[in-house]
Amino acid sequence: MSKKTVKDVQWAGKRALVRVDFNLTFKPGTTTISDDTRIRAVLPTVQHLREQGAGLVLCTHLGRPSGGPSPGLELGPVAERLSELTGAPVQYVHDAVGELARTQAEALRPGDILLLENVRFYPGEEANDPEFAQALAALAHVYVNDAFGAAHRAHASTEGVAHYLPAVAGLLMEQETTMLGRVLETPQRPLAAVLGGAKVSDKTGVLSRLVDRADDIFIGGGMAATFLRAKGHDVGSSLVEEDRVALCGDIMRRAGRGGAALHLPTDVMVTERLEAGARSKTVPADQVPSGWTIADIGPRTIAAFIHELDRAQTVVWNGPMGVFEVPPFDRGTQALAEALAGSDAVTIIGGGSTADAVIHLGLADRMSHVSTGGGASLEFLQGDVLPGVAALEDR
Ligand code: ADP
Ligand code: MG
Repeated sequence: MSKKTVKDVQWAGKRALVRVDFNLTFKPGTTTISDDTRIRAVLPTVQHLREQGAGLVLCTHLGRPSGGPSPGLELGPVAERLSELTGAPVQYVHDAVGELARTQAEALRPGDILLLENVRFYPGEEANDPEFAQALAALAHVYVNDAFGAAHRAHASTEGVAHYLPAVAGLLMEQETTMLGRVLETPQRPLAAVLGGAKVSDKTGVLSRLVDRADDIFIGGGMAATFLRAKGHDVGSSLVEEDRVALCGDIMRRAGRGGAALHLPTDVMVTERLEAGARSKTVPADQVPSGWTIADIGPRTIAAFIHELDRAQTVVWNGPMGVFEVPPFDRGTQALAEALAGSDAVTIIGGGSTADAVIHLGLADRMSHVSTGGGASLEFLQGDVLPGVAALEDR
């Protein structure tokens, strides 16, 4: 990448302030972590820094406390899991700035790990308050940003602090920006984009960017309904974003004029209600019965998409093909995930739900890259500059 990384720093005797993204999910109503992927993802950086003799001051946000302490969003359980995964003691301080944090940070020996309290307990974090950023900076000698998943936010711990310390990328940040950057800049072709998820409006930027860059675009998920409407089909009770029908029409025209080949579902699975156990059936995409809702792509579409994807050398996938949380509407997403897992192409999974689906299917290891940054990966793919990346030092 064009930014300096942890490999460009002499660490002996230095303390690193490492922004990580430990915005984990918990079993509802408990402090039991249900998915620790985001901790595992920063272990290479943590390991590297420890081996190089740095002391580590880790900070992260968790959830959406509104600028004040919030029971249930404290980082105790996260510190414990981090300790299990690193096999090292992790000190946890109930503060992110101030005397206590400072004393503990200064007492760190090479290889020691200190986890600060949830940075969003402080109003200065989301306000990107310079004073709060300076207080964080005072805890260390060098700032490391390994929180790709938070890099689209200009907050004190993701952007502000980089103005007060030498600032470099962590290894996860480097991997994320390299893998996603390759899709936009130097993909092995054919490049295919598989786009789905809830809404066209969430994916407008990615659609517009990829229609001129990709060789093929496959559309599934809830957003397919708006495309089908743009083709003039009736889509029953499926959500149509009326204000995006024109955009879908425009994307189809651009595709026709030398842009990517656009592949829409030819059949869909429809249901009377988006609930487990509700009646469902497969119908041609232009024959959705009134009162029924599209819940997934159909078997003919699954087969066609997989067949066409076989040619691709690079596949970027953002957005599930159906309501995968509610079986049997997970079939399209599962079939696609399995096909990509078995593919020789470079396979890149972006999008929070898509990554969750792939992880839950146990297929993450068989993809080239599963992004840890839902919203950040989307913004990156639509070509936006991420403030957390921009603030790091150029190589
Ligand atoms: P990602 O997080 O991977 O970018 P999105 O956030 O855009 O994906 O969309 C994920 C959501 O889209 C899922 O909760 C899924 O249930 C929903 N979804 C997929 N297909 C449909 C559909 N046909 N109708 C309604 N919602 C859908
Ligand atoms: Mg999402």
